[in-house]
Amino acid sequence: MLAKKSVEDVDVKNKCVLVRVDFNVPLADGVISDDTRIKAALPTIKYLIDNNAKTILVSHLGRPKGQVKAELKMDPVAKRLGELLNKEVLKIDVCVGDAAKKAVEDMQLGDVLLLENVRFYPEETKNDPEFAKKLAELADLFVNDAFGTAHRAHASTVGVAKYLPAVAGFLMKKEIEMLSKVLFDPVRPFVAILGGAKVSDKIGVINNLLDKVDCLIIGGGMANTFLKANGIKVANSLVEEDKLELAKELQEKAKEKGVKLLLPLDAVVAPSIKATGGIGEVPVDQVPGDCMILDIGTKTAELFAKEVKTAGTVVWNGPMGVFEKEAFAKGTEALARALADSKAISVVGGGDTAAAIKKLGVTDKITHVSTGGGASLEFLEGKELPGIAVLMDKE
Ligand code: ADP
Ligand code: MG
Repeated sequence: MLAKKSVEDVDVKNKCVLVRVDFNVPLADGVISDDTRIKAALPTIKYLIDNNAKTILVSHLGRPKGQVKAELKMDPVAKRLGELLNKEVLKIDVCVGDAAKKAVEDMQLGDVLLLENVRFYPEETKNDPEFAKKLAELADLFVNDAFGTAHRAHASTVGVAKYLPAVAGFLMKKEIEMLSKVLFDPVRPFVAILGGAKVSDKIGVINNLLDKVDCLIIGGGMANTFLKANGIKVANSLVEEDKLELAKELQEKAKEKGVKLLLPLDAVVAPSIKATGGIGEVPVDQVPGDCMILDIGTKTAELFAKEVKTAGTVVWNGPMGVFEKEAFAKGTEALARALADSKAISVVGGGDTAAAIKKLGVTDKITHVSTGGGASLEFLEGKELPGIAVLMDKE
C-alpha cells in the first residue's frame, strides 16, 4: 500500500506553502466552462487558509509551450477561485524572481496568491533544477495536489521536492488512497471494465490488471480487435490489425490466471459514426459487411451489468461505445447506471469515462471518479508516478 504524508501530517501553521494544483480548466474567450478542477483543490486551499498559512498556488493551463500566451494567463482562474473561496485571490504575472518574492513577502498570513501559468517557462517541462530552486525559494513547504499531472516529471511537480519537504494535498491523498485500495487491497470479486477506442492505449493496464482481477470485461472499440482475433468478422469496425496476436496472448494469459474474460455478445452497428439511419442491433458474428460496431448491444450490457452487480470492487476505464453520439451511448449509460446502483467500491479513471459519468449525473454514486486521465491510467498500469514518488513516506 502506498502511504504518503499529507498536509495533515506536517505543521503548516504560519508557513509559506507552495501548492501545485491542476487548474488546467477548459477556457474560451476568458470564460471557464467547467470549474470542476478548481473546486477539487478547495479542501487543501481552505485547510491552509484556516491554518494561517500563506498559500502560493501554481498550475499550468493549456499548452503555451514555454511562451507567454495572453489567452492562457491565469487571471480568469484567480477570479473564479476568489468567487469560490469568497475571498480575494492575489495574482501576479510571473512565477519566480524578485517580483514573486516581493509578492510573497507582502502577503498576510491566510492570504492566497496565484502565480502565472507555469508552462510560460520552458524550464517547467524540462524539470530544470535552477527553475525548480527558484520556485522553491518562495516557500517553506511543498504540497502537491495536482494528481492530473503526477505522471509528469516537471519542475513544479517533481523538481521543487528536492529543495522543500513535500507532502500530498487532500485531492492527491484521496487519489492515492482509492487507486491503491483497488490495486493492492480490493474487496473481491474484483471486476475491471475496459473500453475506449484502442487496445494500444490500454495494453499496460490490461496486463497489470490481469494479475489482480477476478473478471475482466472488454467493451468499446478495443473489443473489436479481440473479436476479430477470435475469428469473428467485424466488417468495417475499428480494428488494430497489428494487435490481433496480442489480443490472443492476453486471452491466453487470462485463461492461465483463471480470470474470467468477457467480450461483447451483441452490438449496435451502423454504416458510419455519422449515420442517422441504418442503425441496428445484431449478434457480434452477424455484423453486416458495410457496417461497423459502435456500441455494445442490450444482451452485452445486461451481461456486464450482472457482473458489476455482484462485484466487491469495480475499476472502469473507457466507454463502451461512441458515447458522444446519442445513438451509440446506451451501452455506456447502462453500465454507468449499473455501477451507480452497485454496492461495490467503484473507481472510474479516464477523461472520457469521467465525462460520460458526469453527463449522466451519477458521479456522486461512484466511490471515486479520478481527476487524472493519463495519470490514473499510468497508476493502473502499475507504474510509479514521479509526482507521487517524491512525496515523503509515512513512517
Ligand atoms: P478514456 O478517456 O476514458 O480513457 P478513451 O480515450 O480510451 O477513454 O476512449 C474514448 C473514445 O473511444 C471515445 O471517443 C469513443 O468515441 C471511442 N470509442 C468507443 N467505442 C468505440 C467504437 N466501437 N468504435 C470507435 N470508437 C469508439
Ligand atoms: Mg480519452
